[in-house]
Amino acid sequence: MRQKIRGCASQSRQQGCGYGCYAQLNPGLIAGIEGVDAVLGNDEKFDLHNYTRVAASPPPESTVVCVSEVAGFRTAHQACSLPSGYGGLRTRAFLKLQDGCDYGCAYCTIPLARGCSRSVSPDIILRQARMLAESGYREIVLTGVNTGDYRSGRTGFIELLRMLEEVDVPRIRISSLEPDIVTDELISLVAASRNIVPHFHLPLQSGSDRILGAMRRRYRTADYRERLFSAVERIEGCAVGADVMVGYPGESEEDFREMAHFIESLPLAYLHVFSCSVRPGTALAREVGRGERLEVDSQVASRRSALLKEVGERKSEEFRRRHVGRECRVLFEECRQGDSGKLRWSGYSRNYLPVSVEIPAGSESLAGRELRVAIVVAGLQLEGRLLS
Ligand code: SF4
Repeated sequence: MRQKIRGCASQSRQQGCGYGCYAQLNPGLIAGIEGVDAVLGNDEKFDLHNYTRVAASPPPESTVVCVSEVAGFRTAHQACSLPSGYGGLRTRAFLKLQDGCDYGCAYCTIPLARGCSRSVSPDIILRQARMLAESGYREIVLTGVNTGDYRSGRTGFIELLRMLEEVDVPRIRISSLEPDIVTDELISLVAASRNIVPHFHLPLQSGSDRILGAMRRRYRTADYRERLFSAVERIEGCAVGADVMVGYPGESEEDFREMAHFIESLPLAYLHVFSCSVRPGTALAREVGRGERLEVDSQVASRRSALLKEVGERKSEEFRRRHVGRECRVLFEECRQGDSGKLRWSGYSRNYLPVSVEIPAGSESLAGRELRVAIVVAGLQLEGRLLS
């Protein structure tokens, strides 16, 4: 059996192929793993010819290594989900808009592994979106490394969204956006849209301006707060989630308190908490290497992480609880038989809340249908009653 190593290296005694960011950054390391036939960089992994070369080269004599310099990456290779119905009915498809990033955050290896920001042409994106919709998908998730930095000729992110809105698909979801992209124009567009759903994932990373500066992020807490409140106030039912990083080298107890206090003040729907790890090759690694930033003790970082996770759970619970007694539209995806013999169908609301309903056994399938639901119970998954 051939083994794929994608994004991380796993020891394998079988034959295999390594590709993705880890392969781009560490080709020699992966080529040295027993059983690896080929190492393909982030540009080469899209070329079918490279896979046929691997298949044609009889292991174990040679390891094919094709990894070019990121400085030469110029093309955003197109990528999207296979048409629905190919291997079963699916409701949610992924469509890549762009690759790479020019933002240069001090801790991030993505510009080193994926290169500069570059975008797929709008013609290709629209063709793929129509194909996905016509094949039966009900939701298209727009993805990229820095999705909102989309620009192709005269087409920017907002223009592209206006074109995609015309595609006959019930839902379009934007995967993640840098906070500086969330302009008044974008908020107005989503607020008035029939199919762009009211959900933003806005990485915050730190709630301390001193640390945001050290990270070289393009906003400060006041900007983030203003954009988040504007989105929540102007877009009905809008859910905003965030990523934060604790234990950034040099993060003091005061910085952390500031961050916890800031996050407490935000109307977030969920929070993903990570501990910072210093990646070789980054500006942060050089600062740490020169002794300009001291790494945070791992126990201190764990304590901070646990505290913020608690805050995040509380925020999620509050957000879910606010939906009891309200109505939302749920796109149903999965079904299981409950203890009572009834069917429990589950799916996601437009603002990305997991919701389930119970219906009698033998009822018509709800798969891929977007239906109105009255929310009656707020647990980890909301429970509701079908209205339509
Ligand atoms: S953290 Fe995000 S915005 Fe910053 S450099 Fe990495 S990919 Fe770009």
